[in-house]
Amino acid sequence: MIPRFKPKIGWSEFFTLFKRSNRAVGEFEREFAKAFGAKEAIAFPYGRSAQWAFFKALNISNAEIVMPAYTCSVVAHAITLSGNTPRFVDISFDDFNMDLDQLESKINEKTRAIIATHTFGYPQDVQRIEEIVKAAEAKYDTQIKIMQDCCHAFGAISNGMLIGTAGDVAVYAFNISKTMTSIFGGMLTFQDEKLAQTVRQWRDANFYPPRTIKSLKRRLYLIAVYIAFSKLCYRVTWWLMHKSRLLHKYTEAYHRDERIHFPPDYRESMTNVEAAVGKVQLKKYQSIVNERCRRAKFYSNSLKKTGWILPPIREGATYSHYTVLIQNREEIIRKYALNGTELGEVIQYSVPDLDCYSHIADDCPNSRQVAKLAVNFPVS
Ligand SMILES: *Cc1c(COP(=O)(O)O)cnc(C)c1O
Repeated sequence: MIPRFKPKIGWSEFFTLFKRSNRAVGEFEREFAKAFGAKEAIAFPYGRSAQWAFFKALNISNAEIVMPAYTCSVVAHAITLSGNTPRFVDISFDDFNMDLDQLESKINEKTRAIIATHTFGYPQDVQRIEEIVKAAEAKYDTQIKIMQDCCHAFGAISNGMLIGTAGDVAVYAFNISKTMTSIFGGMLTFQDEKLAQTVRQWRDANFYPPRTIKSLKRRLYLIAVYIAFSKLCYRVTWWLMHKSRLLHKYTEAYHRDERIHFPPDYRESMTNVEAAVGKVQLKKYQSIVNERCRRAKFYSNSLKKTGWILPPIREGATYSHYTVLIQNREEIIRKYALNGTELGEVIQYSVPDLDCYSHIADDCPNSRQVAKLAVNFPVS
């Protein structure tokens, strides 16, 4: 069975689990900042904790934060749990990203931040967002922060620049389904050292050190993942995921789309063992990205005649997912599974259509359509 995603973990990550790594979090932060062209990087237990902490640290509350409608629901949850309200912008069919022609109409005097997501590794035009934000700041006499969400887009290039190097802050996440992993974990990167310092002080005062049991659990989790995704075992893993409720129960505590909640340990800092794994992965991420670009081109050639809507091949894109739009999605997924390939439904909801956000009247038809048709092909 070819899995729909597979973390690139091998012996070096495995051995790291048994080494001492007292200072790994600080080292991971510095090495990450260097690799992604930032002055500072600050580590968090999850990507969502990082987004939440940024708004808290800057005292952004009772405000509106603009985000794309088609993205991971935890982004909206992070906004809500920080005491703010998400506003949704519909996406464009071209590249699954926020349609910038509609951005201005969602900004008003209450807007304090925009989340610019580079969905599936397609770089969003951040320069254009900066222009729109500047005009809005002058119009409403406010300050609006731009947070780039790079969770799908490690190393993507926009207008000749590495993404994340413009804007006020960029967020990355490292769970096992991401381009590179630190078991769990998230990171904020900054170009402005003063802003970074504010956030770092807030984090240090409001997050607590990881307990020993967490380090132990994280080690066991990575070992389990290593086994579950191995060639020999993946059939069984697939069966457990699709035919039984066993693994479902486990993932539910961590994440349920339709409920606004965070895992209970969302303020328990990243462990050194996670950071140590992240450091190893940092050395691999470029080759992971290169491989994904090759796979994307391979699919675009091989699937040409299917009549499905294929995603664009773009300069600078990094394809965290290769996402095809298919009318009879369930049937195709079933057919591929019978032939030993697992296809996924990436994000199978439009965030404003989730019950918990139905009170926000932002209608986003493109997002709803993509949520219904999207199928992701294995890229690893
Ligand atoms: C994964 C992801 C996040 C948050 O990551 P967690 O570590 O799971 O909290 C945020 N935004 C996007 C687009 C993501 O894919």
